[in-house]
Amino acid sequence: MKKILLLVLLSAILVSSCEVPSMPQDFDRSGEVMHVTVVYHSSLLDLQDSYAKEFGVRKDGQDGYAVWKNPGNQPYTCEVHVLKPKANGDTAMDALGHEMTHCLLGTFHKE
Ligand SMILES: [Zn+2]
Repeated sequence: MKKILLLVLLSAILVSSCEVPSMPQDFDRSGEVMHVTVVYHSSLLDLQDSYAKEFGVRKDGQDGYAVWKNPGNQPYTCEVHVLKPKANGDTAMDALGHEMTHCLLGTFHKE
């Protein structure tokens, strides 16, 4: 009886750990072909200058951005701008993953 109870409890834990809260998104390009170009910038200032040139507004503190070059149309073409990661898990790698997620899902956060 204890084994069955343990099995039921374990199943409930496994099921609940697989539930991921839904994240807002404009679309979902998973399973689709996307053309992604990653552009490394030599410094944050260079990256922020590039952002200002692309969007016409300056956002200091920006450590990366993504821009769709063919919005809503195939081939889905996304350009990611970040600093080059130097180590696993550094902030540049976090930014790369964050901006790649923008390519995949569009806007997924408010700020
Ligand atoms: Zn973002």
